Amino acid sequence: MTLSNGRPYLAIPGPSVMPDRVLCAMHRPGPNIYEGELVQMMPALIGDLKAIARTRHNVAIYIANGHGAWEAALSNVLSPGDAALSLCTGRFGHGWTEMAEALGIEVQIEDFGMRTPVDPNRVEDVLRADTNHRLRAVMLTHVDTSTSIRNDVATVRAAMDAVGHHALLMVDCIASMGCDPFRMDDWGADIAVAASQKGLMVPPGVSFVFFNDKAARARSEMPRVSQNWDWMDRANPDLFYQYFGGTAPTHHLYGLREALNMIAEEGGIEAVWARHAHLARAVWAAFDRWAADGPMTLNVKDPTHRSHAVTSVRIGAPHGTALRRWTEDKTGVTLGIGLGMQTAEDPNADGFFRLGHMGHVNAPMVMGALSSIQAGLTALNIPHGTDALAAAAQVISAA
Ligand SMILES: *Cc1c(COP(=O)(O)O)cnc(C)c1O
Repeated sequence: MTLSNGRPYLAIPGPSVMPDRVLCAMHRPGPNIYEGELVQMMPALIGDLKAIARTRHNVAIYIANGHGAWEAALSNVLSPGDAALSLCTGRFGHGWTEMAEALGIEVQIEDFGMRTPVDPNRVEDVLRADTNHRLRAVMLTHVDTSTSIRNDVATVRAAMDAVGHHALLMVDCIASMGCDPFRMDDWGADIAVAASQKGLMVPPGVSFVFFNDKAARARSEMPRVSQNWDWMDRANPDLFYQYFGGTAPTHHLYGLREALNMIAEEGGIEAVWARHAHLARAVWAAFDRWAADGPMTLNVKDPTHRSHAVTSVRIGAPHGTALRRWTEDKTGVTLGIGLGMQTAEDPNADGFFRLGHMGHVNAPMVMGALSSIQAGLTALNIPHGTDALAAAAQVISAA
């Protein structure tokens, strides 16, 4: 039989769970796009978005998923033939790199593997060797959603400053924004990219590029920027339609407004970060217990470099896929696939899964997902350590 009837739980690392409040806010007739409520709500919405990114600078909104914001960020500051350094800690770093290469940018890749974060010393060495400052940008993924590695943005900035390198620091915050602490201005990111469907709790389809004055200067020196990706009018519109380069994403804006209200009501972004941190510790406590016996292990060993939004797990083929199928069919919990984890021995990445704990998640949701995994391990006879749920509950109890 199945016990999945009831509310399904999409526990993948994006799209994340959409709050009913967000969905209800979107459930309305189309608004006037020339005047009235929608037009008037933009200044506060922009201000609230910047507060989440911890920046006083600029934001441009795109009707696009994260890939669109990736392309937008690159298109405003890099031309064909320009060189950039890409720091990769998983699939998403390589994805952004491929997009840059498709735009004609010459990308130097520094690959830090799938289990350890960017090493700022290595970044410093690479930049020191770039004596002519040929590299115009450093591309960094804050949280790589495939590996669940969280990189330390400020130490990469420090490595750049240590050698006086002038490249722009561009950070992919698509998985981390609204989950893991990120402070754009304090940490010296020049550009930060985010999207609606992860920590921001809104359906996919809207994305954001935050940029500071240094990045704006780089834009102004560009010989040509695609009109659709150009951030100038979007960040400083004279007319409402210029925010979006055309018709507004009307219902996404209402959903986003509600999501930002929810963040404010929780106590602001710091409170949201603290909830994610605490729930992540509960998740890790369970996995540490399961890993005490049997094949399971967390992809990232060092907790200080683990994301608070997603956890990538190694369990050996075929257990990852079997467990995902079991929890979805029997309990209604959909776990994430092992993205980018294919190897010669495991060509379908059946030995991996991911648990998303980003955005609209609370203690019973996390405990429910963990309990479903526990049930699946038992049902499938996958060896595992004991007392995982008690360990997670212990962390929750210390809230
Ligand atoms: C989800 C994600 C992306 C891609 O976003 P899409 O909306 O799927 O295009 C890029 N980078 C990171 C870190 C992500 O988590």
